[in-house]
Amino acid sequence: MAVGSAISSPLGPPACEKDAKALRLIEEMTRNADAVQERVLTDILAQNARTEYLSRFKLNGAIDRESFKSKLPVITYEDLQPEIQRIANGDRTAILSAHPISEFLTSSGTSAGERKLMPTIKEELDRRQLLYSLLMPVMNLYVPGLDKGKGLYFLFVKSETRTPGGLLARPVLTSYYKSEHFKTRPYDPYNVYTSPNEAILCPDSFQSMYTQMLCGLQDRHQVLRVGAVFASGLLRAIRFLQLNWEQLSVDIETGDLNRKITDPSLRECMAKILKPNPELARFVQQECSKESWEGIITRIWPNTKYLDVIVTGAMTQYIPTLDYYSGGLPKACTMYASSECYFGLNLNPMCKPSEVSYTIMPNMAYFEFLPHEPNSSGFTRDSPQKLVDLVDVEVGKEYELVITTYAGLCRYRVGDILRVTGFHNSAPQFHFVRRKNVLLSIDSDKTDEAELQKAVENASQLLREFNTSVVEYTSYADTKTIPGHYVIYWELLVKDPTNSPTDEVLKQCCLAMEEYLNSVYRQGRVADNSIGPLEIRVVKNGTFEELMDYAISRGASINQYKVPRCVNFTPIVELLDSRLVSAHFSPGLPQWNPERRR
Ligand code: AMP
Repeated sequence: MAVGSAISSPLGPPACEKDAKALRLIEEMTRNADAVQERVLTDILAQNARTEYLSRFKLNGAIDRESFKSKLPVITYEDLQPEIQRIANGDRTAILSAHPISEFLTSSGTSAGERKLMPTIKEELDRRQLLYSLLMPVMNLYVPGLDKGKGLYFLFVKSETRTPGGLLARPVLTSYYKSEHFKTRPYDPYNVYTSPNEAILCPDSFQSMYTQMLCGLQDRHQVLRVGAVFASGLLRAIRFLQLNWEQLSVDIETGDLNRKITDPSLRECMAKILKPNPELARFVQQECSKESWEGIITRIWPNTKYLDVIVTGAMTQYIPTLDYYSGGLPKACTMYASSECYFGLNLNPMCKPSEVSYTIMPNMAYFEFLPHEPNSSGFTRDSPQKLVDLVDVEVGKEYELVITTYAGLCRYRVGDILRVTGFHNSAPQFHFVRRKNVLLSIDSDKTDEAELQKAVENASQLLREFNTSVVEYTSYADTKTIPGHYVIYWELLVKDPTNSPTDEVLKQCCLAMEEYLNSVYRQGRVADNSIGPLEIRVVKNGTFEELMDYAISRGASINQYKVPRCVNFTPIVELLDSRLVSAHFSPGLPQWNPERRR
């Protein structure tokens, strides 16, 4: 059982009676983590006993851990794809879950270039809401007075589609914001948003962002926290303000809403909120027209106590930019969740980003942990006994998260690598190390090595007629621009210098690469405008050899040296940039539409 469980102290004192109840729940769940896990597994196995999936493994109604662990394989999304396809095509029999699959949640993880479809059931919404309901009671322990103002949160819904069998497929947050749980949430003085529901629920991203920003500007003195789900989303909002402050200030001055806002319910709602305020308009103009935007968040929203954005995992790259715009405000990472399941929360949300640990709530699903040995291919299907239970993980060790959910995912590998940092009571706390196999990420896109390789291969076809090939390549997520963009470094072998590829051809190579990246990337480019045009930087011949020399000078073995397919160590990026021959940007948008294509 938990080493270090003695060092955690109970949470408190609570800010109000409602908070006291939430904190008691956290204490209860974390103190009895193993018993809660046992109950969760029993519930799931009993509920789904007659499903096709569990029957296949001859559980014969057994609901105990031992039978479960000895009979059920550990699986990935690809293993489940036939079942998921049948559900998507309209098979309503109890394949994975005894409860009807209510919709699919479209994950930002992909399979064969398309978003993964995660089956979910109605009652999962209650579990998600339960986790949300714990966040403010914990935050109130560290930041007093949040009931005296509002939160400016940039929240969005995204497009949804239907599967051939008629089930909705949409992102988990879109599902949550459109649910009655969110839309008719009771008034909570600690959780008042500046954005009205109409603005959050407007499917047009420009109209949604515009009105949310307008409301945030109007309420600027009341705003106590500024947030978005991920750091990249908040930076997109800042960029939006840079591009639209003039029109926004006109609206504020006159009280007339920009004609580009056409959604009738949004216009009606904004008509009640927007009041002419020439003084505020002047202030916005004065601040936004200054050359430097350093500290803009605290200049416009001077009472902001913290930023509520996830800056762990792939989002770490945005910390310096957020610090620049906010004058170094604390950045609270409150929760850890996915389309498959919501996992847990940060019990010390005002800590430094590098110290963030998430406590997995044992009532959300049944959790197991696959010991992760760096540089090994890891687990094989034949050794399921290697999985460790929630309370048995060891401090300092890394694991891959494996979940069994009420919606019917059984021993499913999420693909996240976590490191145990300690315990709260008997529930472990985890540092998010990384997502497996992700090379590049700007927003919610996740590009792996194989996808990048395929994209490079595809694009380099265009060089054939110039008798030119790509001899080496690597990549870099450039987040200095907003939105950030992928940079691909190419070293070329040009066999006929009199007929080398032109700028136009290399631009087309950029677009060809984008066409071959996965649908989450292309959606970010086309619909969400969260990723900028891909850039190819051609470097001088011999640059990759210099890269190897550099790595060897720092201790890499010559025999084992492999060209890194992604670089983020500053001296290496600088070395590459210092050998630059030319840079080329994608001239257009890749194809994307909400319907699944490939
Ligand atoms: P999605 O499948 O699109 O719902 O994305 C879920 C994934 O996002 C998780 O499996 C993690 O890889 C990542 N993620 C979610 N929350 C966090 C967090 N707080 N810190 C780092 N990564 C996160």
